[in-house]
Amino acid sequence: MAKKTVADIDVRGKKVLMRCDFNVPLDDDGKITSDDRIVKALPTIEHILDGGGALILMSHLGRPRGQRNEKMSLAPVAERLSELLGKEVIFADDCIGAETKAKTRGLGSGDCMLLENLRFHKEETIKDKAAKADEQLRQAKDDFARQLADLADIYVDDAFGTAHRDNASMYTVPLLMEGAERVIGFLIEKELRYLGDTLSNPERPFVAILGGAKVSDKMGVIENLLDKVDCILIGGAMAYTFFKAAGQKVGKSLCEDDFLDKATELLKQAKDAGCEIVLPVDTVIASEFKAGAERKVVSGNIENGWQGMDIGPETRKLFAEKLAGAKTVVWNGPMGVFELSPFEQGTEAVALAVVEATEAGARSVIGGGDSTSAVKKLGLGDKVSHISTGGGASLEFMEGKKFKCLEILDEKG
Ligand code: AMP
Repeated sequence: MAKKTVADIDVRGKKVLMRCDFNVPLDDDGKITSDDRIVKALPTIEHILDGGGALILMSHLGRPRGQRNEKMSLAPVAERLSELLGKEVIFADDCIGAETKAKTRGLGSGDCMLLENLRFHKEETIKDKAAKADEQLRQAKDDFARQLADLADIYVDDAFGTAHRDNASMYTVPLLMEGAERVIGFLIEKELRYLGDTLSNPERPFVAILGGAKVSDKMGVIENLLDKVDCILIGGAMAYTFFKAAGQKVGKSLCEDDFLDKATELLKQAKDAGCEIVLPVDTVIASEFKAGAERKVVSGNIENGWQGMDIGPETRKLFAEKLAGAKTVVWNGPMGVFELSPFEQGTEAVALAVVEATEAGARSVIGGGDSTSAVKKLGLGDKVSHISTGGGASLEFMEGKKFKCLEILDEKG
């Protein structure tokens, strides 16, 4: 069943506590280098303010590890949000405490407040498993969450980037607000629609593209996708574990020896499930791991002293052919070391092939920070159907994992 959203409830005259993902990149001077995450939260924020709610926003930023750290203050976010909304955003110097509570009491209809970084308090990131095993930790997490929960009448979650975690603000706060309305925002609604519908109701052929450094990170994704997709294209360093499992030499390429058996097993599982797994037929190899390193293209064995850096030109063609007729495409992870030129060519070729498939009518969903930045770097961000705002969250979603912080929120109807 679908989750209730902010559009389904009346916020007029109510205090609304909303979890956002304002984990924006900052430069050394504390300036925001991309306000994308703030901009993406605006539809839900504006909807609540226009609907007459008094809005209290909360988020984490970086990893301050339970300590106050001015470099990770959300104050610059309050400033930017205020510019974008064209109205004052009150900033609370701490997310909990008597002063913050008093400040929220003064909030009226249409007012907006942002609380300081949740992770300045170590209780925010206490894992539920740890809290269950240790009474003191449970108490600490509950006390912290209770102070947040007591600030408002309604809970809204619009932080897809952290939706796979059981942080206090994501899980314990809505749990403690039982009886109150607890809904999702438009950003999460969109993520669930795209990721959820795409995986459960795909038009075929359905092609998945997986890349990145580690096969171990994506094992669960491959397993979950085997009986959903028609074909999985595998690039990035992940491919070398499959190569080695098949008896090929991989030189000094990144390879996970502990997962050779698992890689073989996955290939067999894929065969049984009727899912085609396509591995690279050629590889750009380099003598050193650096931009502009001496390089050549090989198919088959990678000789000693050399390492795989990117998919080769024949693989780019092959992957583009596989994508050409696709009606659904999901992509997570780059095809090579795209940060070092010229090893971005495979990732760029795949990005272009995904865009072409989209233009020919496919639904395309991109997840993961690196594939997303590759698509954006090429200026193709608006030429795919959906770019997920959650790297880890979208990966876990593709693994078929349930998000317990979303499960406890209200259902429609
Ligand atoms: P992941 O976080 O698993 O999606 O991995 C992303 C990282 O994989 C990027 O930083 C890429 O540089 C890296 N990567 C992709 N292909 C290779 C490769 N052939 N060798 C080493 N690293 C790679």
